[in-house]
Amino acid sequence: MAEEKSYKYVIIGGGVAGGYAAREFKKQGLKPGELAIISREAVSPFERPELTKVYIDLSVNPTLASIYCCAGTGEEKQYPHWYKQNGIDLIVSTEIVKADLASKTLVSDDGTIYKYQTLLIATGSTCIRLAEHGIPEADVKNIFYLREIDDNDELSLAMELYVQKGQAVVIGGGFLSLEMSSSLKANNHEVTMVFPEPWILNRFFTPEMSAFYEGYLINKGIKIIKGTAVTGFNTNSDGVVTEVKLDDGTTLDANIVVAGVGAKPATSLFKGQIEELNGGLKTDGFFKTSVPDVYALGDVATFPMKMYGEMRRVEHADNARKSAGHAVKAIKAAEEGKTVPDYDYLPYFYSRFFDLSWQFYGDNVGESVMFGDTDPKSPKPKFGTYWVKDGRVVGVFLEGGAPEEYKAIAEVARAQPSVESLDVLSKEGLSFATKF
Ligand code: FAD
Repeated sequence: MAEEKSYKYVIIGGGVAGGYAAREFKKQGLKPGELAIISREAVSPFERPELTKVYIDLSVNPTLASIYCCAGTGEEKQYPHWYKQNGIDLIVSTEIVKADLASKTLVSDDGTIYKYQTLLIATGSTCIRLAEHGIPEADVKNIFYLREIDDNDELSLAMELYVQKGQAVVIGGGFLSLEMSSSLKANNHEVTMVFPEPWILNRFFTPEMSAFYEGYLINKGIKIIKGTAVTGFNTNSDGVVTEVKLDDGTTLDANIVVAGVGAKPATSLFKGQIEELNGGLKTDGFFKTSVPDVYALGDVATFPMKMYGEMRRVEHADNARKSAGHAVKAIKAAEEGKTVPDYDYLPYFYSRFFDLSWQFYGDNVGESVMFGDTDPKSPKPKFGTYWVKDGRVVGVFLEGGAPEEYKAIAEVARAQPSVESLDVLSKEGLSFATKF
């Protein structure tokens, strides 16, 4: 007969939200055996953004221990023994393959049945495959995706194997591709980025911002091919990729291909059971879904973004951390007949590669104005962009800032001060934010 286990709280997913939810449960008070985290990955929850920044970069001799949650916020690191010490069952290498929310029952890939009183869904996102973009990739070896720890380890092995003769093609022009290109280059691979859009990060960066980053990457020796789509691959007799085929009829030599062509929320287990919106699981301002006692956190949640009066889904680490903390506080408060204020999130995301580092707060809508030193050849480039909508500053980006400057731009994005004109922002530059 199948083994059955029962918990007060079950978290599906041991990623960023799972790790930070465990931390908040510990803070709020947890009895031994009340909480289980069930995760497909074989390791304790870690700071996923560090996969492309630190953990994949063999030149810095990375260790997983350095990136366990909650390293990202500078709090106590939750090593595997932390879960044991706090009476939390961390069940790794285990995938939930069936969820029946009506009977509060989950079934894992080894047949174990898990019963819960309260469920927290923190299943994150999965990579969109090249095949989903219509690019045939079946049976081609050395095409890598990067989402989970196993993906990272497979890619690391290939990087080690080809380190003296690596010819990497990175498909996609988003954050992940940019960070991966930098890490591959730092590990002595020849790198070409190829993507169909007209400039890198085109959904977020203005063309002027991209011009800086493209210039910087080109100076580092990375080749960038824009406005061009990948159509397929050539392989050797072992099925290992040798060339990437492009829609202009040319080919690129390659022995490693990294595909960073998007992600989608991992919600398939709950199809037809939970109300969805914008591709995610719809929640209220406490991360409660349409099903009683079921919460959704991190990448999978479409929640009310109070500042903008809109329902949004956010695929960034900061929201994964904060939504997890907020949901657990709401759960614990409800048990005592209390409430917490509803979630009031200021969008924040960041990236780091080579010597560059930036942060962004708010919304990138409306008109934009850039300020500062945007020369990609500067030894210490420092510049920013304001976004202005209806006469108010709604978003601020800063490259190369100091901690107090990042704090200042966050305050501006939150307060949305009015501004006379774009010229004022352009002239005042960062001082508009720091004097605010
Ligand atoms: P995840 O951290 O993805 O965790 C989901 C977990 O659920 C995984 O462990 C998965 O195995 C598990 N799971 C899924 N389905 C099941 C199942 N059925 N059974 C059991 N377990 C399951 N954000 C930023 O803000 N800045 C960055 O610089 C940045 N860089 C990134 C770099 C990379 C390489 C990646 C992949 C993401 C990056 N992000 C970044 C995004 C950020 O990491 C995510 O937004 C964040 O991890 C979301 O947290 P989550 O807990 O919702 O999901």
